Amino acid sequence: MSAATAVRPRDSSTRPLSVAIVGAGFGGIAAAIELKRHGISDIRILEQAPELGGTWYYNSYPGAACDVPSHLYSFSFAQRRDWSRLCSTQAEIDSYLNEVARTHDVERHIECNRKVTSCAWDEHDARWRIEFADGDRCEADAIVLATGQLNQPAYPPIEGIDAFAGHGFHSARWDHDYSLAGKRVGVVGTGASAVQFVPEVATQAARLTVFQRSGNWFMPRKNRRYPPLVRAAIERVPGVQEFRRRFMFQYCEAITAAIRHPRTIGRIAGLRSAAFMRWQLKDPDVRRKVWPDYTFGCKRVLFSSRYLPALQRRNVDVVVDPIARVVAEGIVTADGTLHELDCIIWGTGFRTTDFMFGMQIVGSQAADLRDAWADGAHAHLGMTVPNFPNMFVMYGPNTNTSGGSIIVYLEAQAAYLRQALAQLRARGARSVEVRAEVERASDRALQARFAGTAWTRCDSWYRDERGRIVANWPGYMREYLEQTRTLDPSEYRFAAPQTAAAPAQLADAPTS
Ligand code: NAP
Repeated sequence: MSAATAVRPRDSSTRPLSVAIVGAGFGGIAAAIELKRHGISDIRILEQAPELGGTWYYNSYPGAACDVPSHLYSFSFAQRRDWSRLCSTQAEIDSYLNEVARTHDVERHIECNRKVTSCAWDEHDARWRIEFADGDRCEADAIVLATGQLNQPAYPPIEGIDAFAGHGFHSARWDHDYSLAGKRVGVVGTGASAVQFVPEVATQAARLTVFQRSGNWFMPRKNRRYPPLVRAAIERVPGVQEFRRRFMFQYCEAITAAIRHPRTIGRIAGLRSAAFMRWQLKDPDVRRKVWPDYTFGCKRVLFSSRYLPALQRRNVDVVVDPIARVVAEGIVTADGTLHELDCIIWGTGFRTTDFMFGMQIVGSQAADLRDAWADGAHAHLGMTVPNFPNMFVMYGPNTNTSGGSIIVYLEAQAAYLRQALAQLRARGARSVEVRAEVERASDRALQARFAGTAWTRCDSWYRDERGRIVANWPGYMREYLEQTRTLDPSEYRFAAPQTAAAPAQLADAPTS
């Protein structure tokens, strides 16, 4: 057991709250900063990687960049005026997050190379008991699961995937020591990641074969470095930075409007996308192959002016025949063709619907989160789950955004969970837990909001295997902000402190 938790006063309702945050990406850092600002400083941020950064640590593939403008894809309280371009590169974002962690004094709370394997609620002590892969343990009054939706690389269940004799790696675990120069490279997958690295790989590889299962809708984005004048204006002219952030917020809301209204706004946006794609796709064969066959906005709309031209290079082939199997020499497609390869790059995304199932989470009455979510993940406002007291999920079920910035959501979540812990302490309670009927009702209302939207019109990583959309928030950023701004204590049950005379009891909070 760690020394930090070895000595523990008995009265848990008066001693300082301890919080364990799993994950040192944007979510975990946001939560830690918010808690520290509000006087909770017994915080440990447990990170399995050797460095902080989360998705921005792992996704270091060539061309990796944000596809949301940086003035919005950054904390409201840590705005930078010197971003080099509209959508920053991975290196720039990673260094931003490191700087934020340092300047807000949360860096020293981060424990790297600490892989959490389980978190179990101890009813008697009202504590979470946390276990690590190396057998170490620690405890905390509350846990924040900030592991996100995009942290477990997915390899498709293709026959013979292990039979390949060449080199292979996933885009989220890029092998920077392997040179692609002069190689025959295969890329499987054409999502947001592949669209960023394919133009880079195309300039290095002797031959690049892109295996596509679905086409995408594209919008233009050159994402060149800002010209010095623009950069100077952002840096020096008062109000320019703030205006850009507000403008981008509204722009992102407009993308969500297009997804929410596929017959009207979505149709107009789809026409804009189609015009751009037609203009870029001079090669009729490539155009036919990559044209999407689903409603605009159902999958993530991709912003790139470089990907479609890259597919039309002489050294690049697009293969749309389904992959039949992988063999030692390469990939065999359904038409029987063997595509001989030296290297396969899996741009096949993440096990998004597994959420934090890399860990075992056991709540009160031995409730296992895996069982609680057996019919699809759900949580009140994506954060709180009945039977899991003092547990908060960041970037949890139904909080992904197709149009907005996840940072906006994460900041809202950090403030919300901080309010829950403040309420817990103000009431002298030992635990806080969302009421089951509240969570059920909010989940029903949330799922109903998908009706008629583009998200329902194709299969995507937003759905689980039953087809339920478990990843995305169905509305606008502003709606999420409104719904999470003030925690309503009547939606929660607070357990009174346990005494020898009276064991802990859950009490409905009086309406605020
Ligand atoms: P993804 O969007 O899930 O794309 C995975 C790709 O692999 C898809 O093209 C998918 O085809 C294909 N695929 C999966 N299984 C396959 C199989 N068995 N055979 C052939 N193809 C298969 O993953 P991603 O590109 O890594 O992006 C995931 C998410 O990360 C994005 O949606 C976005 O939210 C985020 N992201 C963000 C940025 C950013 O700049 N902010 C950058 C990269 C990623 P189907 O479409 O047919 O399923």
